[in-house]
Amino acid sequence: KAFNPTDAGESNIKVVIRCRRRSEREILEGSPIIISTEGAKGQNITIQTAPIASVLGVVTLPPTRTYPFDAVFGPEADQAMIYQDVVYPMLDEVLKGYNCTLFAYGQTGTGKTYTMQGDVSLSPLGNPTAQAGMIPRTLFKLFHQLESSGCDYSVKISYVELYNEELRDLIATEQDGQSGLKIFDDASKRGVFIQGLEDTPVKDFNHALTLLAKGSQKRQIAATKFNDHSSRSHSVFAITVHCKETSSLGDDVLKVGKFNLVDLAGSENIGRSGAENKRAREAGMINQSLLTLGRVINALVDKSSHVPYRESKLTRLLQDSLGGRTKTCIIATVSPARSNMEETLSTLDYALRAK
Ligand code: ADP
Ligand code: MG
Repeated sequence: KAFNPTDAGESNIKVVIRCRRRSEREILEGSPIIISTEGAKGQNITIQTAPIASVLGVVTLPPTRTYPFDAVFGPEADQAMIYQDVVYPMLDEVLKGYNCTLFAYGQTGTGKTYTMQGDVSLSPLGNPTAQAGMIPRTLFKLFHQLESSGCDYSVKISYVELYNEELRDLIATEQDGQSGLKIFDDASKRGVFIQGLEDTPVKDFNHALTLLAKGSQKRQIAATKFNDHSSRSHSVFAITVHCKETSSLGDDVLKVGKFNLVDLAGSENIGRSGAENKRAREAGMINQSLLTLGRVINALVDKSSHVPYRESKLTRLLQDSLGGRTKTCIIATVSPARSNMEETLSTLDYALRAK
């Protein structure tokens, strides 16, 4: 049975792991593989930790540790498999009128952007390519489903980047004037509202893909211009779907669902266990949104009465799509190489606490 992040189990938060192959650099530097998975897809990940020096002859930790997750994808897992098992069930929920949020979390260089975006070009037949990530695949399937459903639909897209707690619209056509967007609470509409953010109506898959590619290019320009920009910024691609159907009784039924696809800042920016490192904080390196997201997820998992949504822009932005009935899935990406062991342990730690 395929893993279904929308199963009505006790938790609406699912956590899956994706481990890529070793990069060329990791191979060149001779860093050994320390991660093993149960093939392309399983539920356990095993990490070979460096031998721990014994204290007074007592070894405190075993040389390997195995952790269970909702799903664990090994290097053999391709984009299509991740989409089919993790993302497609969420799109189904969105079409039923629910909100869903998918995060890619992990150290820089482990495949967050590859997983979420991947290749945004088209195959000669006009389909997403084999390397297309979750966003292009979702858009393709979404329009396919809507076009064959016979319902009266509309799709809107927004794409924002969050850097240093500043929001920037990646779709707006104006050269500037689109940074520093402000978030307001809109009590009348039950939710948050971003002043000046363009929610662009899109007519079909090609149109949506063009906007995604343009927005990503804008993000890329900033990344080349400013060192560290891409590892410290978050991007949120949001798809809002309105679908009007006529029931057998002749009433109009309107379903509104929203799908947020979030490529998070590199997890190396919060450090082990999300602990606030004093030096890093003084250097302004702590990513408030990433830290708060961890706290919000922990509060939701613990069913705590206070969820600190308001403590960062990212969690305010996603407030309507985190917690409650909304389905959330985190894809935590890791490297298999020993040279990244500390960051991998930190990612697994964060991911375990979100379960
Ligand atoms: P991040 O966004 O986490 O910093 P990237 O998505 O940019 O990492 O990935 C770093 C590099 O590794 C890119 O060249 C990307 O194409 C490649 N890569 C990552 N994951 C995979 C994968 N599962 N299969 C093939 N290539 C991958
Ligand atoms: Mg990236």
